[in-house]
Amino acid sequence: MALTGLEIYKQLPKKNCGECGTPTCLAFAMNLAAGKASLDSCPYVSDAAREALDAAAAPPIAKVILGAGSAAVAMGDETELFRHDKRFYHETAIAIQISDNLSNEELQAKVEAINGLEFDRVGQHYTIQAIAISHDADDPAAFQAAVAAVAAATKLNLILMADDPEVMKGALAEVTGRKPLIYAATTINYEAMTALAKENNCPLAVYGNGLEELAGLVDKIIALGHKQLVLDPGARETSRAIADFTQIRRLAIKKRFRSFGYPIIALTTATDPLSEVLQAVNYVTKYASLVVLRTAAKEHLLPLLSWRQNLYTDPQVPIRVEEKLNEIGTPNEDSPVYVTTNFSLTYYSVEGEIEGTKIPSYLLSVDTDGLSVLTAYADGKFEAEKIAALMKKVGLDDKVKRHRIVIPGAVAVLKGKLEELTGWEVVVGPREASGIVPFARTNLAS
Ligand code: SF4
Repeated sequence: MALTGLEIYKQLPKKNCGECGTPTCLAFAMNLAAGKASLDSCPYVSDAAREALDAAAAPPIAKVILGAGSAAVAMGDETELFRHDKRFYHETAIAIQISDNLSNEELQAKVEAINGLEFDRVGQHYTIQAIAISHDADDPAAFQAAVAAVAAATKLNLILMADDPEVMKGALAEVTGRKPLIYAATTINYEAMTALAKENNCPLAVYGNGLEELAGLVDKIIALGHKQLVLDPGARETSRAIADFTQIRRLAIKKRFRSFGYPIIALTTATDPLSEVLQAVNYVTKYASLVVLRTAAKEHLLPLLSWRQNLYTDPQVPIRVEEKLNEIGTPNEDSPVYVTTNFSLTYYSVEGEIEGTKIPSYLLSVDTDGLSVLTAYADGKFEAEKIAALMKKVGLDDKVKRHRIVIPGAVAVLKGKLEELTGWEVVVGPREASGIVPFARTNLAS
C-alpha cells in the first residue's frame, strides 16, 4: 500500500534546507507521495529511512529494459490506469515470433522481412521492437543455431522462448550483451531460470497459471535477488487475458501490490492474421507492455502500430508539424500556394490530397499549437494577420509570380482581411481536404 505524504514526512530529516529542489521537507514528502520526486534528491535521508521509503518512492510499475544499446526499449514505468487521467508513457513493444523449426533459408527470409517492417505515417516513424525465437524443434541444438542466426541477421531486440534451462543457457551464450528477454520462469524451472537471468543480467518473464500462482512465483524470484521481471498470467483467451491484465494493472497502481508491479507480456493465439492483430490491439490497449505475434505482413501490422501510436501520445498535446513553407513535388514560380494549420492530421490530409492533384505546389503550415482549422480559428490562432506574417517571413512574394493563395473553405471569412494585408488574390478552397483534387482541376490547372 502506498504511503501518504505525512507518513513519508515522518521519515525525512526535517532540515528544510531546500537542496532537493522544494523549499520544505513536507513539500518534498507530498511530491514523493504523488510520484513527482525521487528520494535520491535528498542527500540527508538515513539508510533506515531509505529502506522504509523505498516502496513509496518506487514507481507502481517497474521500468524493465529489453535489449541493449540504441535498440533497447523501456517497458512499464506507467503510473495511470486510464490514459485520460494523464498519459501512458512507454509504448507497447511489438515482437514477431519465429520458430527454430524453420530451415536456415526460411529463417533468413523471415528475419529480412521483419527487419523491413518500418512505416512512415502522419510524420511519425513506426517500427517493431523485437524478434521472439521459440524452441519448437526436437533438437536443442536447433534453438541455439536459430538464435545465433537471428542475432546475426537483425539489430532488433531478442526474446528467447524455451522451457528447459539447459537449452536456454546454450542460446544465451550466443547473444551475450544483447540482453534478451528470457521466456519464461515457471513453478518448475524458476530457480535455474532466475540464476541464468542474474548471471547474464537479462530481464526474465514469469509465467504463472493464473494470478495467484503468478504472484507467488514473482515473490520467490524476488527473494532470489532478481527484479527485472515481465509478467505472464497464462491466459490465452482474449477476454480472460484482458481481465487478468486489468487486474494486474489495477492492483499495481491503486493498491501498490508489489508482486504485480512489473510490465506485462501478451502472446496472441489466433490463427488468422486479422484476428491475431485484433487480439494484439486489445492487448496494447489493456495493458501489455510487450505483445508477441506471428504475422509479419505489413498490411496487418500497420493498423496495430497506428493504434499504438494514437494510444501513447499525450492526449493534452496535439501532434503537430513545423511551421514553414512546405514543398510538394518540385514547385516553381508558377506553382499554386495553399495554407493550412500545423495539426498533423490536418496537415498530412491536405498534403496527401495536394499530391493527388499532380500539380507541384507550396503548402504553408501555420503554427496553431496543433489545432485543426476551425478550432484554431475559434481560438484566435488561425487569423489573417498570422498567415500574412508567415507569408512575409518565408518570402512568398519572391517565390511565386502569381500572387494567389488558397485558404481552407471553413475559414472563408479570412479572405477579405488577408487580401487587404498582403495584396494577394485569396481563393476560398474546399471545406474538406477530400475536395482539393477536383477543386485544383477546376481552379488551378492554368
Ligand atoms: Fe528536507 Fe532533504 Fe529536501 Fe533538505 S533536501 S528540504 S532535508 S527533504
